[in-house]
Amino acid sequence: MYKEAIRPAWAEINLSNFEYNVQQIQAKMGAAEGREFIGVIKADAYGHGAIQCAQVLRDNGVKTFAIATLHEAIALRNAGAKERIIILGLTPDMYADTLAKYDITPVVDNADNAKAINDAAASMNKTLDCLLAVDTGMGRIGYLADDTDFAISDVRRIAALPNLKIFGMFSHMSTADCVDKTYSHQQEAKFNNFYKALTDAGIEIPFRTLANSASIMEIPSVLFDGCRPGIILYGCYPSHEVDPAQLSLKPVMSVKANIVHLKFVPSNFSVGYGRKYISEKPATIATIGLGYADGYPRPYSANAKVIVNGVVCPIAGNICMDQCMIDVSNVPNVNVGDEVIVMGSDGTNSITADDIADATGTINYEITCAFGQRLPKVYV
Ligand code: PLP
Repeated sequence: MYKEAIRPAWAEINLSNFEYNVQQIQAKMGAAEGREFIGVIKADAYGHGAIQCAQVLRDNGVKTFAIATLHEAIALRNAGAKERIIILGLTPDMYADTLAKYDITPVVDNADNAKAINDAAASMNKTLDCLLAVDTGMGRIGYLADDTDFAISDVRRIAALPNLKIFGMFSHMSTADCVDKTYSHQQEAKFNNFYKALTDAGIEIPFRTLANSASIMEIPSVLFDGCRPGIILYGCYPSHEVDPAQLSLKPVMSVKANIVHLKFVPSNFSVGYGRKYISEKPATIATIGLGYADGYPRPYSANAKVIVNGVVCPIAGNICMDQCMIDVSNVPNVNVGDEVIVMGSDGTNSITADDIADATGTINYEITCAFGQRLPKVYV
């Protein structure tokens, strides 16, 4: 129970484990040889707290952060971040002045948008850096890598802007976390061709970044000048297809709650919405104050397990919005106030973000992001 959490349910963020992961990644990607570590701390650091994670990154020499929205960038600046902050999505013209005001590095994929950003920077007597987005196969944003004729003419216009400097180019991998790396290598080839076409045309591209977590682990040829690790920072592997032996990681987020209510029920007693649990024999039911609005997925209900006093217990019935019930009949000496591990380990048993993701048809990324939204975070 943490008084500062102001509720008996919380996400515990282990910053020592986060730092361990940062250092493992630095070694793996060759940060010591000058390769830029771009700490991807978007979505509040995948639910772990961007400001706290940024501090650990900073303490470990990281000088560039990547986020997804201007709100996230402003929050970092307001917390005192002086580092380069790259916004990984496109920024419509109407927000260009905000970009300039907070000295954020945008990604751009058209000269008209670049001009709007240039003009906003000029009006504040500033020069901003920008990163060219290249679509090598993700199909999301960026210059189409194959259409180099258009890209050259459009990027020439950007290169001529006095208050927006092309700092580099980036693209994003779509299948680096799969065993079959064929498509990844096609993306790599397109990235290289695009770079060659632009530089052959006399456009200077001082910096290239392509690698996400899975690429850092398994595709050394795409590390280029900088890497953008996200999920591995938080101690989760990008998929079940990557080889965990490539990188030692420690999970950063645990989710815990205290029992707030206990009852001893007879057989044939129903628990929760829809009466999905009906006791077959007398049972002990505990309630915790944590539910799907805290990121505990409702579709997990039938398979959900928690750890109570060293015993793995099933959730009884459907997870509610803000509470859920646990069948703790097998837990000896259970009491109100006892700690429940919803995600995490007690040293013997563990429930991972992957376990919850696998049981609910999603990915670990979504699980930590969701838990990070409403639960208070306690840093240990
Ligand atoms: N770069 C970009 C452009 C992204 O969108 C993301 C995440 O979605 C990342 C890097 C980090 O990816 P990962 O968490 O798989 O390392």
